[in-house]
Amino acid sequence: MKTHIYKSKVFDMACRQFDKAADLINLDPSLIKRTKYPKRCMVVTCPVRMDNGQVELFEGYRVQHHLSLGPTKGGLRFHPAVTVGEVAGLSMWMSWKCALAGLPYGGAKGGICVDVSKLSITELERLSRRYMQEMIPFVGPNTDIMAPDMGTNEQVMAWMMDTYANHIGNSIPAIVTGKPVSLGGSQGRREATGHGVAYVVKSYMNDLRIPLDQATAVIQGFGNVGSEAALALNAFGIKVIAISDVHGGYYNANGIDVQNALEYSKIHKSLKGWKEADIISNEALLRLKCTVLIPAALERVITEDNVRQLNCRILAEAANGPTTNGADEILKENDNITTIPDIFCNSGGVIVSYFEWVQDLQSLFWTREEVLRKMHNILDRAKMEIETQKQKYGYSRREAALTVGIQKVVNAKSVRGLFP
Ligand code: NAD
Repeated sequence: MKTHIYKSKVFDMACRQFDKAADLINLDPSLIKRTKYPKRCMVVTCPVRMDNGQVELFEGYRVQHHLSLGPTKGGLRFHPAVTVGEVAGLSMWMSWKCALAGLPYGGAKGGICVDVSKLSITELERLSRRYMQEMIPFVGPNTDIMAPDMGTNEQVMAWMMDTYANHIGNSIPAIVTGKPVSLGGSQGRREATGHGVAYVVKSYMNDLRIPLDQATAVIQGFGNVGSEAALALNAFGIKVIAISDVHGGYYNANGIDVQNALEYSKIHKSLKGWKEADIISNEALLRLKCTVLIPAALERVITEDNVRQLNCRILAEAANGPTTNGADEILKENDNITTIPDIFCNSGGVIVSYFEWVQDLQSLFWTREEVLRKMHNILDRAKMEIETQKQKYGYSRREAALTVGIQKVVNAKSVRGLFP
């Protein structure tokens, strides 16, 4: 089989990672392509009435990667550069991430090609609802469950849930996760991804015997994940010395006032114009000397061109796919940098999304403490599996995480067999 529709740098990157991992575990050739390529892909056209009365069309995608372990699960991204190939690559990573964490899901991802900064709130609502309307035949609490990703948030999830519920005729909170708590969202979900990132960073700092109060963090991307990671790192006593968003970066060697930056960015919808730190470019920010560097924005920001200039002890991949294959090969040879791979590092988000789904299905809700404790348990177990695999076979940490995740998907496919 040949596939052309997914052609993109992100999909190629996910495929190259998969091919290497499949080689390492000597994956049965009859299972390689079945495990690698997405099961389904939907492309929809969303007509939306704009505030000026005109109708504009937006292209939307949803890729469901595999169905062998349960319903599919994954975020929805609103970004002007989204392509179906990017979404397909992200859906593959979701599959390995869910399997690594032991969640009963296949991976999925969705996206709409749109610049949300150019939409009014009412246009954003109509677009979100329209996308869900178009996707109704393909999603459901036992089929495919969406969640926030770049450019989407709790409010978008609330509109999507409401659209689906209106269609079905009764409230179905389990159709999406990352909803407001008042609608059946989970305590701890909003901060789960960033908190999970900080938790695993702390865990590796402990392994490396780095005192937390002497550690510094640099974060690219100050959205949901980056800002929550900053708050959690601060709470663990780790100083955040630089942050950034799409408009640029901010540096203060004495420590960024994260709360102040968060309040400013909520009011101004970005950090642009924030005066409490020195201005620095996003590219220079990646090269700052620090204990932990956290890319928390887009894919492919650490490349063969800048990887040798990284000046961190730990690279914690909060974003999905921030490191290109070429850069990864170079990092693999660098014992001075501990890389915490994306499919593990940012998995706190989908772990708590899973908890939200479980709570919605049983209409029984847990406290924030319960949620975070259960998330920590899963992260600790996944870390142990990765480190054991790494040690046993001499893999890099990324290879270890990928092979554990992929093997679990392959095992499910093997025992289920091929229907009919
Ligand atoms: P978000 O939209 O809330 O924030 C994204 C941030 O990145 C914003 O501050 C934006 O200005 C910044 N940004 C965008 N382009 C940039 C660029 N070129 N340079 C620097 N900064 C840039 O998105 P998010 O939900 O925080 O997601 C961030 C990353 O984390 C994505 O890779 C996403 O796939 C991943 N992720 C998110 C979740 C989640 O629960 N939201 C879970 C797992 C992984």
